[in-house]
Amino acid sequence: MDFNEIVCYSQTIILILLLIGSLLNFRKDLSSTKEKVVSTCPSCGYEIDGSDVQYCAKCGNMLSQSEGLKLEK
Ligand SMILES: [Zn+2]
Repeated sequence: MDFNEIVCYSQTIILILLLIGSLLNFRKDLSSTKEKVVSTCPSCGYEIDGSDVQYCAKCGNMLSQSEGLKLEK
């Protein structure tokens, strides 16, 4: 095994390590986006993204986070 071969092998190993690292980062991104909260409107069944949403975007129904406090229009 001459010097050029050793350099070639080490470069390949570094490339593989970089690939594994980026794959792990990619999987972390995927799992963090999967934790997205989706709530369903009780009156029309529309799926609403986000946990801080208080009104349905489709029918305007107030979601159940503060039940009993219905706002008059
Ligand atoms: Zn709705």
